[in-house]
Amino acid sequence: MNGLPTIAELAFALDQGDAKAVEVIAEIRKNIETHESDVNAYVNLYQNEATAQAKEADAGEYPAGKTPDLTGIPIAIKDNICVRGWPCTCASRILNGFLSPYDATVVKRLKAAGAIIVGKTNLDEFAMGASSETSACGPVKNPLDMERVPGGSSGGSAAAVAYGGAVAALGSDTGGSVRQPAAFCGLVGFRPSYGRISRYGLVAFASSLDQVGPITQTVEDAAILYSVIAGPDPDDSTTYPQEPEEMDLTGQIPRGTKVGVMKECFTDLQDRRIADAVMRPFADAGIELVEVSLPLVRLSVAAYHLLAMSEVSSNLARYDGIRYGRRVEKLGLKDTYFTSRGQGFGDEVKRRILIGTFGLSEGYIDAYYNTALRYRAALATQYEAAFEKADFLLSPTAPTTAFKLGERTNDPLAMYLSDVFTAPAALAALPCISIPAKDTVDGLPAGIQLTAPRWKDSQLLEFAHAVEQI
Ligand code: GLN
Repeated sequence: MNGLPTIAELAFALDQGDAKAVEVIAEIRKNIETHESDVNAYVNLYQNEATAQAKEADAGEYPAGKTPDLTGIPIAIKDNICVRGWPCTCASRILNGFLSPYDATVVKRLKAAGAIIVGKTNLDEFAMGASSETSACGPVKNPLDMERVPGGSSGGSAAAVAYGGAVAALGSDTGGSVRQPAAFCGLVGFRPSYGRISRYGLVAFASSLDQVGPITQTVEDAAILYSVIAGPDPDDSTTYPQEPEEMDLTGQIPRGTKVGVMKECFTDLQDRRIADAVMRPFADAGIELVEVSLPLVRLSVAAYHLLAMSEVSSNLARYDGIRYGRRVEKLGLKDTYFTSRGQGFGDEVKRRILIGTFGLSEGYIDAYYNTALRYRAALATQYEAAFEKADFLLSPTAPTTAFKLGERTNDPLAMYLSDVFTAPAALAALPCISIPAKDTVDGLPAGIQLTAPRWKDSQLLEFAHAVEQI
């Protein structure tokens, strides 16, 4: 779709001598030259380094069939993930001048597998948003329709892959930021079980929710990136101690597989065409569908934003003008803090810090934060009950297709409601994937979202791959 091969195709072609990494990088450079000034997918590009690395890869050996190997494969990285020696802006003025002192574990693993990092991609400031419009580096546009948003917050990663600025990308997903932009740009976005992928070197937004995930052209590519970056990490104590299970992407759907249709997500959906596009492949393939009801899903946006904002108020306290990036020198310490933060953060980040601080304050913490925590536990129980009836759960990824730029920027509530189908799995720590439906809606892609029980990441990828073949 973007004119570039997939990771799997490219790895094979490089190994066979049918492609050269330098040629692919040249192609990407051309695409960047054509589209980047309009789309604004990247915050920083490293094209000369990428070309040099591609030459080196071509001069060496392509390890035949040794998957997962990413030698010579160009990947883009969301700019809230640290790459040693490079800026990590989080699309915020407050990190002006900050250079990453180390590689994030996911970056270390990509580099060790031979991947070429093409650049750092644009995002909503500190990953807070659903449209990539809150970026201090300017909004990202959707390459499929330049009047529309690419989704967010990993909109730069999705847009870069969609226009051929990278073969695949990494994003981060706190409440939907990998899955929703993938859906808006016609790509695959995978959020693993909480604990599968290390967050060491991912700038914290809401630590009980943040996960890194791949945005790719195919499920197979998501599986390849996942197998490179997943697994235990002594630098992130929330990682699960076992290596992920091996995957077998046969394209076969095991007999008796049941898919649970998340009732509330479909009955609440206003655009029936999205419901039809999402359901059709399952009906066509004769996959057994059962209805499951998770009424608590309806409250997920309120609970997600309360919890995420509470964590924001604590996680973003470290940007004080002293330790990182930008400092506005004032006479007193307090004024230095106030002015650095006041000028460094954008409106959406400030809104979240304020609401989060309020929700945690004495007298309110039970009504807000603790209530949201109880909700979270109850939601997980509803998921458990649903998984008694079905192997995977189905919903649309988002209630709409890509919306117009500017449409929701003055209405934070409308923006937050874009997360209604992606927030629940994040709250319940479940693996969840968005794959593009075959039918478009007014020419725009709609995402099919599949959720699996915790730690069934490999089974989810296998199943999603089979559905993608349909
Ligand atoms: N759109 C959600 C939010 O605004 C999700 C963001 C994310 O996953 N980083 O918080």
